[in-house]
Amino acid sequence: MGCLTRLIVVGVGGFSLFYWWQPWEFDWQERPAPKSNPAFDLTSLSLFSPERKVLIVTAHPDDTEFYIAGTLLRMKDAGVQSKLVVTTDGDKGYYPFEDAARNRRIRQAEQREATTAWGGSDTIFLGFPDGQLTTSEPLIRAIQREIEIYLPDVLMLFDADPPPRASHADHRRTGEATEIAAKRSGFPLTLMRFSTMHGNAFIDVTQKWDQRWDLLAIHKSQFTDLAMGRVRGIIVGSATTAGKRIGVEYAEPFRVTTLPGVRRADPAPSLPTPETPTPPSSEEAPKTPPEGGPDSQYL
Ligand SMILES: [Zn+2]
Repeated sequence: MGCLTRLIVVGVGGFSLFYWWQPWEFDWQERPAPKSNPAFDLTSLSLFSPERKVLIVTAHPDDTEFYIAGTLLRMKDAGVQSKLVVTTDGDKGYYPFEDAARNRRIRQAEQREATTAWGGSDTIFLGFPDGQLTTSEPLIRAIQREIEIYLPDVLMLFDADPPPRASHADHRRTGEATEIAAKRSGFPLTLMRFSTMHGNAFIDVTQKWDQRWDLLAIHKSQFTDLAMGRVRGIIVGSATTAGKRIGVEYAEPFRVTTLPGVRRADPAPSLPTPETPTPPSSEEAPKTPPEGGPDSQYL
């Protein structure tokens, strides 16, 4: 083998190993928008109303404050009921070589503080390992269980379909698993996907722009002044671009569709008696979506 060939083999092998090890995923080409992606009229949803019940599913502590802080602050003002589910235990973050148990403890405490600051009633950690998520059956079932316990009418989730071209693999897997869990639950749900390249609804967060940085700053273990400076540009760029779509200074983009549902959300099931069999738990939930094909969410 020639010297140059050996160098190329080592280079390609080394790059492949590094790509496999690190948690980010890259699309070499931007993914096209879903076939049907009409503008969604958010006023028809009345998101900012105490009637709304919103479940947010993210991958890591700090995701909510990074992507949708302004929307969450507006929801708090409006008295919207909300709760957060985080799929990983957050033991790595931006500093994967630090002590995992310490990372986990600190980051979970930071997320609980942040959730309280934007008015969420609770933070649930599903405990899957940070940086290694797969769209597995246990992950899907764990998310479905949370949907069935909380019975939201709006689900906020990562967009796994047209995400940013470079994004954390845990974000994509969490988005995929949440989509499947939502369909399996069979409940009517509005899906609001954040971290998307093809938003069809935009929330004006200009009034909350200063306060949104206070929320992100709660994650002190991740955002030193230097790190905050680095991410600020990304967040400002995204919010400015989204703002232009609705003629405001700053907005947060979402790709919104609805799932009609085949089940009624009834929070008070009758207690089991010898005459009435125990209702199936989420562990025994049907393994296929109750109805509709793969595109049924694009309504
Ligand atoms: Zn994340």
